[in-house]
Amino acid sequence: MAVHDKIGAMAEEMTRWRRTLHACPETAFQEKETSDYVAEKLLSFGLDIHRGLAGTGIVATIQRGAGESPAIGLRSDIDALDITEATGLPYASRNQGKMHACGHDGHMSMLLGAAKYLAGSDTFRGTVHFIFQPAEENEGGGGRMVREGLFDRFPVRSVFGLHNFPVLPEGTFAICKGPMMAAYDVFDIEIRGKGGHAATPQNVKDPILASSYLVTLLQSIVSRDVNPVQAAVVSVTEIRGGTSYNIIPDAVRLRGTTRHFLPQVQEMVEARMREICSGVSASFGIAVDMAYERRYPPLVNTDRETDEAARAAALVAGKDRVLTDITPVMTSEDFAFLLKEKPGAYIGIGSGNPKETGRLHQAMYDFNDRILPIGASYWATLVETLLPK
Ligand SMILES: [Zn+2]
Ligand SMILES: [Zn+2]
Repeated sequence: MAVHDKIGAMAEEMTRWRRTLHACPETAFQEKETSDYVAEKLLSFGLDIHRGLAGTGIVATIQRGAGESPAIGLRSDIDALDITEATGLPYASRNQGKMHACGHDGHMSMLLGAAKYLAGSDTFRGTVHFIFQPAEENEGGGGRMVREGLFDRFPVRSVFGLHNFPVLPEGTFAICKGPMMAAYDVFDIEIRGKGGHAATPQNVKDPILASSYLVTLLQSIVSRDVNPVQAAVVSVTEIRGGTSYNIIPDAVRLRGTTRHFLPQVQEMVEARMREICSGVSASFGIAVDMAYERRYPPLVNTDRETDEAARAAALVAGKDRVLTDITPVMTSEDFAFLLKEKPGAYIGIGSGNPKETGRLHQAMYDFNDRILPIGASYWATLVETLLPK
């Protein structure tokens, strides 16, 4: 393992930062204390910082060399989740109902470690923008930073992201070219019938029966309409309706998500959902209305930058500990918005045994601090290889 010596020496300090951040988890666009803490650290390392993109976002810059130097962007997410922490750790969340259960505390600490190391060493020529991005979970802070001018104010040749993967062995890396994570869409369906006494079904328009057919029919899209070699997911995740044993309600509400990689699959899934909704409406004589929202695009790594990321990872972890052809996953990530604008690559860093650390988004999850110097060394190596002196 080729962790930078100076970064290895910062392991305890990075762990302290990570645990301080872990204790004050804040969710989408509310990351005020988090943003203040990160900004204060960056200023203490001597970086120029810009605050305010997407509200709590920070871009910090190190420029080495005069004139038109090439620039790259390195991004960390900063937000937490609406989960009540159950780890019982001394540095557990002090914000009730909020938790860093996706490791974004660790991501911030790794990028801060790289910023401190790079600020204090003369090992590259060019410009590095350290992007601390709010609201990765659900709310698309990455898209908002782009819309508010991230790459106009801070132009880059390419941009890179990183996420811990508890299912991969500690200190390994994983990446693939092309689509690596799916697009993320959401839907809300309202089935409005006519409620009444459960014992007189002839007098009601039953939204519960209609919604049951609807949920089942929606499952025919992936099994019968999507080409089996082109992946998609349709998941109904919430059903709300009814109040008692003997009352048929007026309405039932469904919510859920769809995932896919290809625009034509996305179009078709949405179109088929609308057709099925009108079919159920006609069959039962009740109103079925669907609101469908496209949230995150698919995350697509460009070929050259995937090679660059894999090469930097191999210099840190060893070539045999870098998987370069992993199977894409149906989870989503708003770094995709940055990759829609600029070439770049998103890489996974193995954080070890999920039995020990918990899985992402679980109340028992904790970031594995042993990978902090590995992730920071990856960032530093990426800078030193892409922007050589
Ligand atoms: Zn997450
Ligand atoms: Zn995450």
